[in-house]
Amino acid sequence: MHHTGPDSSVAIPATDPTQFGSFLLQTEVRFGPGVALELVSALAPYGDRILIVTDLGVRLTGLVDQILAPVIAAGVAVTVYDDVSPNPRDHECRAASDLARAVGATVIVAIGGGSPIDAAKCAAALATNGGSVRDWAVPRRLAADPLPLIAIPTTAGTGSEVTRGAVITDEEHRTKLTVKDPRMAPRLALVDPSLTHSVPPGVTAATGMDVLTHAIEAYTGRRATPVSDALALHAIRLVAANLATAYEHGDDAIAREGMLMASLLAGMAFGNADVAAVHCLAEALGGRYDTPHGVANAVMLPPVMRYNIVTAPDRHADVATALGIDTRDLTADVAADRAVDAVAALAHRLEIPRLPELDRVTAADFAALALTAAANSSTPSNARPIDAAGYEAILTESWGGRTDGVIWRV
Ligand code: NAD
Repeated sequence: MHHTGPDSSVAIPATDPTQFGSFLLQTEVRFGPGVALELVSALAPYGDRILIVTDLGVRLTGLVDQILAPVIAAGVAVTVYDDVSPNPRDHECRAASDLARAVGATVIVAIGGGSPIDAAKCAAALATNGGSVRDWAVPRRLAADPLPLIAIPTTAGTGSEVTRGAVITDEEHRTKLTVKDPRMAPRLALVDPSLTHSVPPGVTAATGMDVLTHAIEAYTGRRATPVSDALALHAIRLVAANLATAYEHGDDAIAREGMLMASLLAGMAFGNADVAAVHCLAEALGGRYDTPHGVANAVMLPPVMRYNIVTAPDRHADVATALGIDTRDLTADVAADRAVDAVAALAHRLEIPRLPELDRVTAADFAALALTAAANSSTPSNARPIDAAGYEAILTESWGGRTDGVIWRV
């Protein structure tokens, strides 16, 4: 049985508090509608030459001009790099860092989803360290401090505004590289829910499922701590309460605010407790086929949860409770199953495709994808030990449309 508190709808996490480890948050966070307009005053300590890193989709919404109007009026020299692709590329980070050096930027400001924020993190690192993203990928640490970075997220998804990592596609090897260093975390995050109202439904769905994946992997993974648990469980509750509404009614300010808060909390959680097997598979798919990150996570989340339940039934039962399922009369095993069903039902409601429906994916690549996932540095964080054979079996099972996890229960 999993543990319930006096109010039996509230699950009490079962992490051993002596496993506290450490919790690091280097980023000052300001949250609320309108905080993006504080950029002009926030820039004061960082000099007067800024490089904005964004993408064309965000620029076309008018958000960048809106945020920059008071900055330009204050006489700050602004240069904009807006050529970041979804799943940003190594060469884009280098182009942005070259521009930062050319204009003598004293600070970089990322405006956008995880793609511009990650590209900006690497541009800030390469501007002072030189070289390419591959040169600084994990397990390496940066030699020099990056340029200071301010992040203004415009999607409720990655939580990259408070994490110290960046994920960049290496086009030559068709893999995703991670660069991770505590100094890469933004100095300041201006987290403004009003910026997310224009996110189209498909991106709202994918990025929202990314939030749920971060929270579930942080909570069920091997590196969970009491602090990350608190953050992750609340993020799951917020997703359960707000994601479908944000998808169906994009102008619902309360749902958008709930989702951006969920994204922030989940970012703080996985930024310390790591992600796990879902992300390892999602990054393998994203590197090879350019699958949107949130879609890849949403596709792999239910089958990986099924795989993990046998190792951590209580933890998955807690996820069920946080998702709003009444687990009072259920055993942990049954509650855990319901959590997976609820996640799969949410993905279905959000019209997330299934694995065989993703562009260009073919079963002939599964062995190679499984090897890439197994080599990912987050594989050891997964609740249940997993190797390339395990990853390949999960892909094969998902390909056949099975998500009931029968093969994992024996
Ligand atoms: P994204 O940044 O790629 O944006 C997706 C699309 O949404 C783009 O076309 C963009 O133009 C558009 N968009 C963004 N904001 C908008 C707005 N307010 N209105 C209208 N359109 C808008 O998507 P994402 O999911 O936020 O980021 C994905 C990237 O983040 C991937 O590369 C992934 O690997 C990475 N990631 C990083 C971390 C981390 O901690 N560093 C964590 C998870 C994912």
